[in-house]
Amino acid sequence: MQIERYNYSDQWGEQLPHLMVDLEKMLRDGHYVLTEEVKDFENQFSEYLKVNYVNGVNCGTDALILALLALDIGPGDEVITQANTFYATVAAICWVGATPVLVDANEQSFLLETSQLDAVVTEKTRAIIPVHLYGKPTPMEAIWTFAKRHQLFIIEDAAQAHGAKIHGKRVGTLGDIGCFSFHPSKNLAAVGDAGAVVTDCDTYNKKIKALRSLGQVAPYEHVFIGLNSKMDAIQAKVLSLKLNRLDAWNQRRREIAAAYQQQLASLPLTFQATNTGEEAVYHLFQIRCEQRDKLQGYLNKHAIDAVVRYPTPIHQQPAFQQRGWRCGQFPIAEKLSRELLCLPIRPDFTDMHISYICDRIREFFQ
Ligand SMILES: *Cc1c(COP(=O)(O)O)cnc(C)c1O
Repeated sequence: MQIERYNYSDQWGEQLPHLMVDLEKMLRDGHYVLTEEVKDFENQFSEYLKVNYVNGVNCGTDALILALLALDIGPGDEVITQANTFYATVAAICWVGATPVLVDANEQSFLLETSQLDAVVTEKTRAIIPVHLYGKPTPMEAIWTFAKRHQLFIIEDAAQAHGAKIHGKRVGTLGDIGCFSFHPSKNLAAVGDAGAVVTDCDTYNKKIKALRSLGQVAPYEHVFIGLNSKMDAIQAKVLSLKLNRLDAWNQRRREIAAAYQQQLASLPLTFQATNTGEEAVYHLFQIRCEQRDKLQGYLNKHAIDAVVRYPTPIHQQPAFQQRGWRCGQFPIAEKLSRELLCLPIRPDFTDMHISYICDRIREFFQ
């Protein structure tokens, strides 16, 4: 058996012929960027999230840059995030000219270690970006308290957590601005790059709208230096179609994650901790294992596409060499980068796929 990480073709279900008809019409009509299709998707996603405003943009990285720009964050400002995030979170902070400030990961949740926040906050700190990494919602109480005490903005990086909830509220709506990616690898996937910036605030929304269109507020009247980052009609059409199935897919991901945890319970492995009141969406299913590299080799040899996300923590990325971070400065992020392994997780997996993978893992430990 060959077990791939993605099965894009399954995501179309019965819908592909209908989509092709719509696409042909769209191609002939000639309206391609920020069209009615984009408005429809923005409305649909805002209803889904229960948030006032959604702005479709080019990708998740742009969503983060636009969120920072909308909050007037730039040179001289500091923004806190975690050392074990995907590179884009920190690249976005650098792109607006602000200074990224890192805290370590928490060893149980693999999320931002909130106990370190007080030690890194300064007069210059303007915002914090919690990352709902691997689809697990960041417990927000500590973040809210901290942000309030220091008057910081909260930008959620929800690129891996479409639909995840804490106490019934979807992530992306728990701070000032939420950022999503619809890269094909994500739980809600476009057919290329796409992203969204969401907010409840009318002022931020107006600014984000202008910023994604080169800072334009009326034809050829540019009041900000923005990006050109507008969602395409074709991506919006695809996303609208798939959004209808997102909850069912996420539910299946949770079932698969539970099955993995049950079948692997007796082995020397640990999992990302879960809390009561939260609903994770398992963008990635991580197991933590001291013999990670050997286990990955064994699974890959048996045609199971287990991968490492992410092999290099932020502070050890070559692009950030000049930032003064040291090896060993964020020991948990470093440890997790050596010990975490992603098992394939796809909504279309049958119980047979899961058993096959778990059997190979048990074999490895025998
Ligand atoms: C994918 C991702 C991004 C960037 O999204 P793109 O659409 O690829 O630009 C940002 N943050 C996290 C945590 C991601 O996983």
